[in-house]
Amino acid sequence: METVILDVRKSGEEAIEQAAQLLRRGEIVAFPTETVYGLGAVVWNEEAVRKIFVAKGRPLDNPLIVHIASIQMALPLVREPLDRFQLLARHFWPGPLTLVVEHRGNVPSIVTAGLPTVAIRMPDHPVALALIEKVGEPLVAPSANRSGKPSPTRAEHVVEDLAGSIAAVLDAGPTQVGIESTVLVLTTEPPRIVRPGVVTKEVLETVLGVPIEEVRSDDVNRPVAPGMKYRHYAPTVPVQLFENPEELDQALQGAPERRILILALPQWRTRFQHYPGYRLLSEQTLYETFREADRDRWEAVWILADKEVQRRRGLYNRILKAATS
Ligand code: AMP
Ligand code: MG
Repeated sequence: METVILDVRKSGEEAIEQAAQLLRRGEIVAFPTETVYGLGAVVWNEEAVRKIFVAKGRPLDNPLIVHIASIQMALPLVREPLDRFQLLARHFWPGPLTLVVEHRGNVPSIVTAGLPTVAIRMPDHPVALALIEKVGEPLVAPSANRSGKPSPTRAEHVVEDLAGSIAAVLDAGPTQVGIESTVLVLTTEPPRIVRPGVVTKEVLETVLGVPIEEVRSDDVNRPVAPGMKYRHYAPTVPVQLFENPEELDQALQGAPERRILILALPQWRTRFQHYPGYRLLSEQTLYETFREADRDRWEAVWILADKEVQRRRGLYNRILKAATS
């Protein structure tokens, strides 16, 4: 299959219309969201959803997130009680927060991996919203990468991984957030964050008015949500963490011949920028740098995971997963 690249910046509406037509015909199409690029299919089309699992090489017991363009669009899928769901949806959508609630039994089991719950979110990206609206149905959309590879933050990454196995990619340039959505399960008491992201526990607690539990999701041996047992986000080259700059500096001075990619927050720039492998660490660029590490055959990725990094739960979670893979 030839994968068509539909450039939204060049052909706007027309590109989105073409993507919508392909989706309505049961094809799978990658599209930008504010987090990472997603690989879409119409939620009701089991045949199309199955193509996603095949193209990604994704295990069937890892459920998908359903993307909608209005709260209204989610209501036929979800079961009461919806007070918390409505409150959070009104406050955070569109945005990088996925809510897990009970479904009504009408969502195909290939989408939910047979669970009684469904994960839903409204992406904060004009192209994603326009596409879902044009199709007129919710779209499932896991990240548009091969399973096990870092999530795609540019259309080029999607092409790298999936060219030839998907119908099209809608290209709207790099994504803003760069890491996947926070996943909040509302069917437990207290509610649980099973995947941290840029929407934090603290802000969710403030809006919800109740405590939330953040489960340790970095331990692949103790999965608390489907999908968590799978290794994610990692480059092929080894990733090593350092807690303070002295330790990192010392290690680097002991390895002058080695081609090491170095990731540190902007406040450490002056300290590390003389190394050719120095790159800025951020949520937005993490996956791109992981891909660079593999593509340009760096020997290893060394990350300064200081207190500030550890505080950024979403970022730190992805880094920990990469380091333990
Ligand atoms: P992604 O791989 O980025 O598409 O995100 C999908 C992830 O959302 C899964 O790996 C789960 O961690 C989470 N998820 C999806 N559906 C559910 C569900 N019904 N219950 C709990 N977590 C879910
Ligand atoms: Mg993914």
